[in-house]
Amino acid sequence: MVERVTLYRAPTTVADVDAIADWLAARIEAGVEVRDRFLDLYADDELADAFAAARVLSPYERETGNTMLGIVRYEQRALDHPERAGGVIYDGLQVQRSLGERLPADERGLDHLHVPVLDRVLGTWGDHDGRWHKRVNVLGQPALVSVPGLYEAPAKPEQYYKEQQKHAMVAGDSPPREVLESEVEGEFLVEDDPRTTEALKGYVLQAYHYLETGEGFCEESGCRLANPHRQPGVVAAQLQGTAFCPAHAERYRP
Ligand SMILES: [Zn+2]
Repeated sequence: MVERVTLYRAPTTVADVDAIADWLAARIEAGVEVRDRFLDLYADDELADAFAAARVLSPYERETGNTMLGIVRYEQRALDHPERAGGVIYDGLQVQRSLGERLPADERGLDHLHVPVLDRVLGTWGDHDGRWHKRVNVLGQPALVSVPGLYEAPAKPEQYYKEQQKHAMVAGDSPPREVLESEVEGEFLVEDDPRTTEALKGYVLQAYHYLETGEGFCEESGCRLANPHRQPGVVAAQLQGTAFCPAHAERYRP
């Protein structure tokens, strides 16, 4: 039984972790609390090395890690000044292990779920197709939730990438969000999307649901416990409609 859930803020992102905690507390039996950024609270001298070792080197290469001094220094700077980090994918399972080792010793039991909300992009290796896949969350203890993963992991509509390419060829940069949103059919979330907090609620609940019941993602497409591979599916599951499939509505509707 999960008796306590601790969420950790992600101050460099637009995610309002306190609001997510309130939403969660209204739906589950366990006590819910919020702490500041995990990487500020529990970083030690070796954490930069751990992040360097967890770097994905190529989308199609299983092996990770570049612990050359310059890279470790970069990772140290990214820990100290998170607003400057970006552009790197990390092996979500390695990061999960590293953060798990840094949890307070008396809080590691499965009755106390920790959910660091992170400003890093996380991936897991797909044995079936031999490539890395970005993730919105990595379930387990601690459970990781990636804010940039929400924007990047589920694929945007095909046309989004076409418009982006077209604009890059003409103007040499990325088109403004308004242009993409008006030109592209289908719904999707973009960086710093104002709907970020709302969308992440379901992904945090998935972390609790997994530890509490042992069940993974829900197969019902409109359910907040679903794990859609495409952005319109994320919008449908997290931002519209009935919020839960009938089975999970019984469990989580307050
Ligand atoms: Zn469901």
